[in-house]
Amino acid sequence: MNITQPFGSTLELIGNTPLVLLKGASAAAGCEIYGKCEFANPGSSVKDRAALYMIRDAEVRGELKSGGTVIEGTAGNTGIGIALVANALGYKTIIVMPDNQSKEKMDTLRALGAELMLVPPTKYADPNHFQHVSRRMAEEIDGAIWAGQFDNTANRKAHIEGTAPELWEQLGGKIDGFTCAAGTGGTIAGVGMGLKAFDENVRIALTDPHGAALYNYFAHGELKAEGSSVAEGIGQGRITANLEGAPIDDQFRISDEEGMQWVEQLLREEGLCLGLSSGINVAGAIELGKRLVGEGRKEARVATILCDTGFRYLSTLYNADWLAEKGLPIFGWLKAD
Ligand code: PMP
Repeated sequence: MNITQPFGSTLELIGNTPLVLLKGASAAAGCEIYGKCEFANPGSSVKDRAALYMIRDAEVRGELKSGGTVIEGTAGNTGIGIALVANALGYKTIIVMPDNQSKEKMDTLRALGAELMLVPPTKYADPNHFQHVSRRMAEEIDGAIWAGQFDNTANRKAHIEGTAPELWEQLGGKIDGFTCAAGTGGTIAGVGMGLKAFDENVRIALTDPHGAALYNYFAHGELKAEGSSVAEGIGQGRITANLEGAPIDDQFRISDEEGMQWVEQLLREEGLCLGLSSGINVAGAIELGKRLVGEGRKEARVATILCDTGFRYLSTLYNADWLAEKGLPIFGWLKAD
């Protein structure tokens, strides 16, 4: 990206995010750990990339026409990405979201002009799950399309064509490992496929939060979830179309406590205010780094995703009452209030 020249459109601000060396995480791993600053996208999360690709793909397929509506079921960030891309291209947005997601995401969606429908958080098998409700709405409304991020592989294509080549270029082709957690799986599958196309020896690892089923799937071939997590946007119980064929070599399971420890440390030591999925990703990257170092690869370089901004979680992750309610450790400086 050449930032010495003006851009012609907001949409060109999506992607081409900076990569930063995480000093504390590198010290903990014994090798270099890098974070891809996806919070630097205009909607402040990694999901702007998928939103742009899914909308452009629907236009190319002739399904989304002028004045049309984009409908999606989302934990929030994809909705924010869709709303800003839809605004920039003249479409309407309707978002169906579980009501246990952060208030900041709901307020941001409303501020962007999206129509917001909140549903109770239920299991995928329940017909009232946010994904099914949003799909049915799209079938009923004239001129509407359903983005369908979980099984729409335009999502992972954004990472095959964007995130992966960016990482490769930013690290000058010297990248030994990549890991992140999965929501739709678009990021891990797309970056994994994209990096393997450059060098099949890049180690791709899934970092799974507790309460998700993918760790057991990749470790033992069984989709089985154990425990629970309050992390928003990650934790998958099935093999989505985006996850099909994902080149996963390794897997780690990271607790909310470990993730929060890194959320706090990154804030305190590096001034990075992030969400919990980023903390979990960094903890996973340290595990992957340690594993590579243990195999004798002392010069290893591992990259992960800093998925979204912590400003989206001021009422939750950065709020002492909320943390106490969830039984999570409270940061030293929050306790003072
Ligand atoms: N972190 C956050 C905060 C998210 O909103 C998402 C998207 N659901 C992810 C991580 C995971 O990204 P993906 O859907 O590409 O697996």
